Amino acid sequence: MPYRPEGADQLAFLDALFDAGLLIETGVDGLYGRNGLFEDVIARFDELVTRFGRDGRPEVIRFPPGMSRSQFEASGYLKSFPQLAGTVHSFAGDEAGHRDLLADIADGRDWTGQQQATDIVLTPAACYPLYPTVARRGPLPAGGLLFDLQSYCFRHEPSLDPARMQMFRMREYVRIGTPAEVTEFRATWMERGKELMQALALPYELDVANDPFFGRAGRMLANNQRDQGLKFEMLVPITSSAKKTACLSFNYHQDHFGCLCGITTDAEETAHTTCVGFGLERVALALFRHHGTDVAAWPAAVRETLWGAP
Ligand code: ATP
Ligand code: ZN
Repeated sequence: MPYRPEGADQLAFLDALFDAGLLIETGVDGLYGRNGLFEDVIARFDELVTRFGRDGRPEVIRFPPGMSRSQFEASGYLKSFPQLAGTVHSFAGDEAGHRDLLADIADGRDWTGQQQATDIVLTPAACYPLYPTVARRGPLPAGGLLFDLQSYCFRHEPSLDPARMQMFRMREYVRIGTPAEVTEFRATWMERGKELMQALALPYELDVANDPFFGRAGRMLANNQRDQGLKFEMLVPITSSAKKTACLSFNYHQDHFGCLCGITTDAEETAHTTCVGFGLERVALALFRHHGTDVAAWPAAVRETLWGAP
């Protein structure tokens, strides 16, 4: 095979997705429409995740893709990932200000100066709105809690890699309880994640990982996270076989959110939390990459897993 730099592979796959109509261009890198087939694959995978997790009888909650700005500030996200955060701003001027705004747009000037921060920020990961919600309920019941979440998320990481979107959906299971309860949950899901990949006939590799913490202090946090094995990722080659893409993540936050939000166990100890995240678009892209854009030609076993019939 001729050598092609990684970027060219990403671009070729992105173009193939546009040509097949699976993704729809908007003019912004990482911001795409999805067609009915792409959505159907996502819905089927979402349902498969439900089947794999049903035995835990999770409580289902769906938050909108925006969360409370004050809860976001308290979460510590801006300490670690200021570069990824997205905030919602709105026009807050008077009629004269409105005229200025329209004139700025007409003359091609920056028109955003009168925009003011609202009480809403874009959700960076599906689990962020959950922790303050759980804290408000009071101490956990014995045995802790398990939640099933899904949300559109925003991360400011514009890229020509179709697997790195700015707006994408994350399904999550979040376990909150004692250290033993949450680490056992995460270990179980690392095994289930492999079964899930096998059921979809996708090549995979489970590896230790770190989050993209900001700045020089961030490098230390990232090393720490790796050394302690706090984050694992299920990697699948999508746009590069050298640099595989994280399709599932298994994050152990220890008592980070428990401390910040004041979540306690029934024994009045600070709760620990873990989340298993499923990148819905990334899994769909992995399926299209490995089995082709014609789903009728996908392996019979994969079709049966997703649609219940070969
Ligand atoms: P990466 O290392 O590739 O930036 P991540 O490990 O930081 O991803 P998490 O923060 O753990 O991602 O998010 C949970 C899941 O959301 C990931 O496993 C991935 O499948 C998905 N995801 C994360 N970022 C993106 C993105 N920019 N576009 C699409 N899916 C994403
Ligand atoms: Zn999470």
